[in-house]
Amino acid sequence: MKKLESSRLSRMGSAIFSEVAEWKREVAARGMDVIDLGIGSPDRPPSPAVMRALEEAVRDPSMYGYPSSEGSLAFRETVARWYKHRFGIGLDPEQEIVTLMGSQDGLAHLAMAITNPGDAALVPDPGYPIYAASLVLAGVEPVLMPLRSENGFLPVLADIPEETARRAKFMLLNYPSNPLSAVATPEFFRAAVDFARKHELLIVHDLAYSEMAFDGFRPPSILEIEGAKEVAVEFHSLSKSFNMAGCRIAFMVGRPDVVRSLRILKSNIDYGVFNAVQRAGIAAMEEDMAPGSVPVAGLYERRRDVLIEGLRRAGWTIPKPKATMFVWARIPAGWTSRQISREMLFSSGVVVIPGDAFGSEGEGYVRIALVQEEARLQEAAERIGAFLAAARQLR
Ligand SMILES: *Cc1c(COP(=O)(O)O)cnc(C)c1O
Repeated sequence: MKKLESSRLSRMGSAIFSEVAEWKREVAARGMDVIDLGIGSPDRPPSPAVMRALEEAVRDPSMYGYPSSEGSLAFRETVARWYKHRFGIGLDPEQEIVTLMGSQDGLAHLAMAITNPGDAALVPDPGYPIYAASLVLAGVEPVLMPLRSENGFLPVLADIPEETARRAKFMLLNYPSNPLSAVATPEFFRAAVDFARKHELLIVHDLAYSEMAFDGFRPPSILEIEGAKEVAVEFHSLSKSFNMAGCRIAFMVGRPDVVRSLRILKSNIDYGVFNAVQRAGIAAMEEDMAPGSVPVAGLYERRRDVLIEGLRRAGWTIPKPKATMFVWARIPAGWTSRQISREMLFSSGVVVIPGDAFGSEGEGYVRIALVQEEARLQEAAERIGAFLAAARQLR
């Protein structure tokens, strides 16, 4: 038989995630109680109103035909109202919004829709894995932008060579960031928009964590910057904002020709999100716009405090992130990210992700996801503390 495995597969994704999954199986098989702070999947269900809307919709016989790839007009109109409500930005539901089967769907396909093989694109390192994988699928050359703590984990635009900027079709940004939990200022977005205009490249902004920010901080949309709609598109997902990760619903908004290209590609691939799920998505945004709505942020803010304060008592001081469900923790000296993740898991049962799973710039860090209840996070911090104390003794 011919080899039925494309060479793309080996260039996509990081082997580290499967390695961590293997460690976890091994530890669980030994009968150890595992606290999984690895994968960033929300552990809470959507609100009762959202589940009720979904329940009613699945009983509606008219929901079962093929939906349309771009999403129902009702869903896109609600997205437009939510963007106005949340960011003060007007969007045309017909031309500036496309519904997605999760942001992952849009992020995976966008490069194929807007580039040609041999083009280049700027992507963050560390970055969310689908960014680089989408370039592999499209045959696009990745140009990595190192994100380092001394720059607030923002790319230094002045360091991008003129020739690279001219060649790149688009630049991927993600603030608040997974895995870095870093946030961007409106000034940075303004500079990015100016840069995009100057070099005639598109900015693709992944805003998955706009509703998961703390201490009163409200993450901006890049489209709030004047003129941004001419050079940018933005992804938003209902997965994190409304605990709907399993429903697979998200959208991309912004520059109309990019929305159109993605719609055309997708119309050849899929027939869209189950209409009942779109109804539930509408309910989620409606509820969010209603007075007195309770955003998910508070839950994660308390969890963040429990974990960070617990780790500080254990002698590991990490700055408190302003957003996301992740803590990006610089590891103590003398370890690699993979070593400490592995040894910590085998001795304490706590799963974290080695930072280099997100790119080589992630070496020296681990990502800890706030996806367990406060008592479990407290317990995780104590076990990590005991592990670190024992490791200090040994060294
Ligand atoms: C979770 C996440 C998404 C959302 O993906 P969906 O496919 O919409 O569930 C997108 N981008 C980042 C950075 C994420 O962490």
